[in-house]
Amino acid sequence: MTLLRARWLGRLPYQEAWDLQRAFHEGRASGRAAEDYLLLLEHPPTYTVGRAGDEANLLASREELARLGAELHYVDRGGDVTYHGPGQLVGYPIVHLGESPDPVAYVRRLEQVLVAALADLGVAAWAEAGYTGVWTAAGKTAAIGVRNARGVTMHGFAVNVSGDLGWFRHIVPCGIGDRPVTSLSEVAGRRVSIEELVERLVPRFAEVFGYAAVETQLGAFARGSGRAPGSYEVDRLLAAGVFSPGARPGPSPREPADLPGDPPRPSWMRVRADLGGGYRGLHHLVEDLGLHTVCREAGCPNIYECWAAGTATFLLLGDVCTRACSFCDVATGRPGPVDPGEPERVAEAVARLGLSHAVLTSVDRDDLPDGGAGAFAETIRRIRERVPGCAVEVLIPDFKGDAAALALVAAEQPEVLNHNTETVLRLQREVRTAASYGRSLALLGRAGWLSPAGLVKSGLIVGMGETREEVLGTLADLRAVGVDLVTIGQYLRPSARHRPIHRYVAPEEFAEYTAYGEGLGIPRVESGPLVRSSYHARLAREAAGERAGPARYPAAG
Ligand code: SF4
Repeated sequence: MTLLRARWLGRLPYQEAWDLQRAFHEGRASGRAAEDYLLLLEHPPTYTVGRAGDEANLLASREELARLGAELHYVDRGGDVTYHGPGQLVGYPIVHLGESPDPVAYVRRLEQVLVAALADLGVAAWAEAGYTGVWTAAGKTAAIGVRNARGVTMHGFAVNVSGDLGWFRHIVPCGIGDRPVTSLSEVAGRRVSIEELVERLVPRFAEVFGYAAVETQLGAFARGSGRAPGSYEVDRLLAAGVFSPGARPGPSPREPADLPGDPPRPSWMRVRADLGGGYRGLHHLVEDLGLHTVCREAGCPNIYECWAAGTATFLLLGDVCTRACSFCDVATGRPGPVDPGEPERVAEAVARLGLSHAVLTSVDRDDLPDGGAGAFAETIRRIRERVPGCAVEVLIPDFKGDAAALALVAAEQPEVLNHNTETVLRLQREVRTAASYGRSLALLGRAGWLSPAGLVKSGLIVGMGETREEVLGTLADLRAVGVDLVTIGQYLRPSARHRPIHRYVAPEEFAEYTAYGEGLGIPRVESGPLVRSSYHARLAREAAGERAGPARYPAAG
């Protein structure tokens, strides 16, 4: 055993977490990932029925569970019926069991891990023959249900830490009707937090399974409930008086370097303004057709170079975003109605520019039922009709985890399906307020299955407070879930209202990211101070495509 990568991902709906597990499992089983993972998270209220589950142990109907706000899933793990919800730590180890897998011994070791971690918290617990899980004097505190496919594990354990045990009233937990369920907080007589348990559990897991080293990345530990269905970022911002939608400023030209508190801008970050014919021509075309580009709206430093070369990234669905990420210069507010003529006009621009590789992105449209997925699909179709042979790259939002919205875009089989994780796990909450690292990784895994002929791409911005080790760990995660192409570039602060620059990453460090990522097996890592998602997009696709080869997605187990 060498390295264990442990990740606390926060709260994630069951289906997304399941797909995320599948992506990591596929990565480990196929050899795409060389290391084991311990995925730690929390679910919203969810009931699951294992392969050996007895329907009679579900005491409420599907309709009653839905009324209570809980999901129900029939899953491919061992064991009977169980409940997951806030206040419960769920662990999904993706562990390679070696040449002669022994799933029973594996389950006994999981019990050993949990008993040791609970002892570290002052809770006396034990395993019992014939009753898989972890027990205390007050009842069962942890359930275990696993799957072993191709010698690699999925699913895992769930420890009741705090939270409402009343949810267990609607099932016979694990089919054991005569013994109660309890939580660590109840047994300890004080409120135990998930964070405390994660701190104890990760080293115990490494010890029991014999890993030489652990690389741990932790997202924020949330308190309180998740977002109410139907609400979206801009509602909260309006309520908080963060901005006035009536007084939205236009796209801001990049402010001079070295804003207060920022480190001095190094020589490698300086760009030459070229307002020549190429730039002016593209500017007029975009104005003429009433289009938006992320080049302008996000104040991209490469605009002079890209526009002079006749390339741009089209911004669909307006120039007003429903989210307010702390690094981004696109205006936040309540967007206007969808413009039905926009896909045709984008296709017209692609034709007039004679592009062989078009890049499309959008603002986040959490106000639309499909998150804007339909507009991406329609624009891809129009471009293909207008400019046959033109490759299309889409940089999509997370569609709030909606698999159907992603499928709508993927059905058009874009040559590149890009979704940025933007930053490392620890900084997600403060940098991308309405997004989640786990959700983004699940989307990237799904993208590979839905669009097998295309490339899956993701990107990071550095210089926002992350460490070098965190970036390396993120590259490993992206590789594990099947990403083919990664971009890494320096954060530039759009204005004094935005998140300060933490540091300027030196060119040598960018080169190290390329070497490390490609060493892990990512077909192409474009990493450099001025790299952006769409910078040299066609060349990056060609390079990644050559290296990715046809066997990118080996069959899952
Ligand atoms: S790097 Fe992308 S966003 Fe920036 S100017 Fe070039 S095409 Fe536009």
